[in-house]
Order: sequence, then structure tokens, then C-alpha cells
Amino acid sequence: MKLYNTLTRQTETFQPQDGNILGMYVCGPTVYDHIHIGNVRPLIVFDTLRRYFEGFKGWNVIHVQNITDIDDKLINKSIESGETVEEIARVYTDSFFELLKGLGVLQPTHTPKATEHVAGMIELIQGLEKAGFAYEQDGDVYFRVDRFEGYGKLSGRRLDDQEAGARIEASSQKENPFDFTLWKSAKPGEPKWDSPWGEGRPGWHTECVVLSHQYLGNHRDIHAGGHDLVFPHHENEIAQAEALSGEPFFRFWLHNGLLSLGGQKMSKSLGNFDYAKNVLAKYDPETVRYFYLSRHYRKPLDYSEEGLQAAQTAVTRLRTMLTDVESELRTATGTYGNVGSAFVASLSEFRSRYIEAMDEDLNTVAAIGVLQELVSATNRYRAESTAEDRMALLDAVALLKELGEPLGLFSTGAVRESGLEDGLMTLLIELRKQLREKKEFTLADQIRDQLADLGVTLKDTAQGTIWSLS
Ligand SMILES: [Zn+2]
Repeated sequence: MKLYNTLTRQTETFQPQDGNILGMYVCGPTVYDHIHIGNVRPLIVFDTLRRYFEGFKGWNVIHVQNITDIDDKLINKSIESGETVEEIARVYTDSFFELLKGLGVLQPTHTPKATEHVAGMIELIQGLEKAGFAYEQDGDVYFRVDRFEGYGKLSGRRLDDQEAGARIEASSQKENPFDFTLWKSAKPGEPKWDSPWGEGRPGWHTECVVLSHQYLGNHRDIHAGGHDLVFPHHENEIAQAEALSGEPFFRFWLHNGLLSLGGQKMSKSLGNFDYAKNVLAKYDPETVRYFYLSRHYRKPLDYSEEGLQAAQTAVTRLRTMLTDVESELRTATGTYGNVGSAFVASLSEFRSRYIEAMDEDLNTVAAIGVLQELVSATNRYRAESTAEDRMALLDAVALLKELGEPLGLFSTGAVRESGLEDGLMTLLIELRKQLREKKEFTLADQIRDQLADLGVTLKDTAQGTIWSLS
């Protein structure tokens, strides 16, 4: 598997350091607002990468995603709204997890909150201060960038680029304009923790260093996030971690390209942005994922209604083939002849082309192309094959589902996947039958009506009750 590594600016062969255990840290949300459509991209992209690692490489992924629940943005929102920082954090943390579910994104292995790890952050900052990498000014603590030789290696920025430095933040307290805050003293009324430098709060860049070490240990394989995090966030993480340990913090740094809206840079201050939950209210999760994955993750992506509608049409085509074949062959049994066998043999080529695409720096664009070609080939076969060879279509359906899984297609939304659903439906149908036999019609009808609310239709036939998804 090859991945583009921002640190080396090269596409490199990737393999977990420790057998089949893989540690992946993806920078999580600052919970002061709902997630907007730009910040959905890393959620979908790195979920797809994780699913592919697990499903096709057999690697066990430890996926860490932090929740930044203390930050200037939360404090400002608290001042504006009158709600406490804790209340704001709770509301938008819930909203974040709700969104993950809505998008069919796998729950990360660990989702630590910054406020639960302040002691570890103080310890790191103390270590940096003791080693001469940090200094205090009036209760604030800064990282001394020119003491760390590797500063700028991720982003390619040079410390003598004074103009760039001056743009970051003009502060007379700092020795160098690139110096960044490790600890910030608290103003009256702000959330605060005791520290050797007085009451205050830790900085965002320190949070991800501490949580990476705590939850991944030595499995620090991949650190990922949006391209806007390369500088200063990830650069500053590397500086803190490597200044103290002297060893590489993470081996691979992955960054997704940013989103534009109608060809313009998306910006909250300009007001041209949308919340992800609004998009999910209009489109099903498979369509949303398909849209985001239909462009290579490192390229910029322009968000548009037309793009989403095109994705919806494409997803419908895949789904229609699946459901049609499944309902046609629901009761079919038996084997297939030579024609069917030849068709099944031809399927392995789709699988290897898909793997080739995904192995090449997660080329989901090409992978999606393979899925669509598979559907075309299957539809052609459907039209041409005779009854005795139709069973071969089930192999095509199984393959389509397998290849769709990392992309998050067919595992959410309307298409049934697991045997569990079948088992549960059989159970409910049997229960309803017994209730009807006992003349408990109210309860029996309740089962039917509540299933209908969930989108499941029951139909009573001479052969028994059958169910379908509406
Ligand atoms: Zn981070």
C-alpha cells in the first residue's frame, strides 16, 4: 500500500511498524459549533482508509480522535451566549457523535476529551521548560522554536521568513514571532486549572501530542487531518514531541485537500459554508460519502448541489442493481453452468483492479470507477444470461458489497447487509403470527405498524409473511 507522506513529500510504501497493529490519530473537532461540510471530508476519508486497512489488509486499527473541549473559540461562544463552556462542549460533542452515526463513520477506538488530560499536558510543558524548549512570560508559556532544529520540516516554512512569522501573531512577549503558546493564563471567569505557572489552560497543540502518546504508545503510524492543520498545528505538535524525545513523532502525515463552495474558498466569516447535518437532511449518507470520495482526497473539492445530485444518481444505479438481483434471486437455489462460471471467473479482475486503485494512495476515484464498471458488466450479464446461469449474479452482488464496504456504501441506508437483520425479521414475523393465532390483534398490528415506521413492509401471502424495505 502506498500513501503520500506530507513529511517527506513523497508517495511511500506503508506498512504498520508492529505486525498487524496500526495506530492512527486523526485530529478531532473543537466542539463550539456543529461540523461544517469542510470538516466532514477528513471524517469520511480517514474512515474509508481505516475500513480498507481492516477489511482488505487485515490490520487492526487503533483509531484515536480527540475532542477539543477547551479553547478560545469555546470561551468566546460562552461569553456571547451566556452558556457555560461545559454546556457548549456537551451540546456539540453530542452533535459530533450524532453526525458520525449519520455518516456511517465507524466509532473511533478512543475519543479522549482535552479537559480530562490537563495533568499530562502540564507534565509535558514542564519537561519542555526544564529542557530549555519553553519559557514563561506573565503566566503564559511559549515554545522556543529556534531551539528545535527541525522546526518547519513538515510545512516547509523557514524561521528566517520573518514576514510569515509576523503574520502569525504580533506579540511583544515572544522571543520569536513563531513561538507558540503552550499554556495560557486565565482571565477572570474563564475555565482554569492550577499549574506551576498559575491558573490557566493548555494550548491545542499540546493536547494532540499528549493524547497520541497516551492512546497509541509506540503505535504511532499515521497522523492525519485537513491540509489546513499542517501549519501551525501539526508543525507545532512535531516540535514539542521531538524536542523532548529526540525520536520521530509519527512516521506518516496524511492531509486531505480543502473544500470550496461554488468555486470560492469556504469561510465562516464570509458566511459561505453549510453544516453537515443540513446536507444529511437532504441526502442519504451513501450519497454524501460517494460525493466526497469521488474526488481524490488530496485534491481540493468543490462542494455543489449538482455534484451531490450526480452522486445520488450514481449511488441509485449501484443500489438498484443490488436490490433487483437480490429480490429476483431471493428464493433461487442450485448451481450455474459454464456461462455462469465464466462470468464469475471474470469478476476477480474487478477485485484486483479495485485493490490496485486503493493501494495507490487511496485512489477512491478509480475504485468507484471499478464499482460502476462492475455494475455495467453485471447488468449486461443479467440481460443475456439464461435462467440456469442466473445464480452467478449473486457472486457479482457479493463482490459489489465487499468493494463498497470501505467506501461506506451498502452498509448504511436502505440495503440490507448482515444475516442478523434476516434473523431478527424472522423472529418478529413469527412472533406476530403467534399473536394473531391467539387473537391478540392489537399487539400484532402494533408490530406491523412500527416496522412500517422503520421502513419495513410486511406482506401476508399464501406461503407466509414476507418483508421488504420500502
Ligand atoms: Zn491535533
